[in-house]
Amino acid sequence: MKKFFILCFLTSFLLISCSKNENKEDEIEETEIEIPLSIYQKIYKTTSDIYIQDGFVYIHTDGVPDHKSPYFPVNHELYESYDGSNPFVSNFNKNPNGISTLSLRFRIPNKPKKASFSGPTPLGPIGVSLNGVPFYNQYAGPDQPLTREINSFDQFNGHPAPLGPGLEDGFSGRYHYHMEPFWITQSKGKDALIGFLLDGFPVYGPVENGNPIYSISLDEYHGHSHATSEFPDGIYHYHVTSDDPYINGSGFYGVPGTVNE
Ligand SMILES: [Zn+2]
Ligand SMILES: [Zn+2]
Repeated sequence: MKKFFILCFLTSFLLISCSKNENKEDEIEETEIEIPLSIYQKIYKTTSDIYIQDGFVYIHTDGVPDHKSPYFPVNHELYESYDGSNPFVSNFNKNPNGISTLSLRFRIPNKPKKASFSGPTPLGPIGVSLNGVPFYNQYAGPDQPLTREINSFDQFNGHPAPLGPGLEDGFSGRYHYHMEPFWITQSKGKDALIGFLLDGFPVYGPVENGNPIYSISLDEYHGHSHATSEFPDGIYHYHVTSDDPYINGSGFYGVPGTVNE
């Protein structure tokens, strides 16, 4: 009887250590990617040099777009009235906010890895596009779809939100994209890398291998894994799509970093 117990004990010990090793191998596969600085440097509008420290990349931007918009003051060199070109806008309705110079400090994992649990993304910045303008999620407010807000998007598909209580003077706001940043996909290509979400995984345009991508071919977080031009060995990445939820689905795929305003 004693021998039987010892045998049982040894067998279960062996089984446990085997399964532990298998888990370890899975984790190693997931954490292999370390994104080089040169890829982050495709973010071309920053307020200081991009740097990597202790497993994070630091990206500082002022959130001001480098393209024209009706949300700049009329005497600003980048002011341009709405030109009617945004296919998502049925009846342009300029909101009362303007574009403010912000101080956005993104701290994003340099070795992005899958989260064991993904909660919904927060309101406010969920990532950064190549021109330093933040990405926002698919909601206008808590559980409010974008439906009505879309008509306030400008010709490059962005708009400003109020700065917040106390600061809201009717002319100041945080400019952001909930959907495809047209300025970037027009200048870099519809299939190009267009930015990163807070979890460190890259975001690509709405076209892949010459074909448009829709949400139905992506997972619940709005991404999938395969090789891209920046990551020939394959990486998990998001795509912007013309259909809801546009940039991200039900949360970050990876463990998110932080952003300070
Ligand atoms: Zn918005
Ligand atoms: Zn893809």
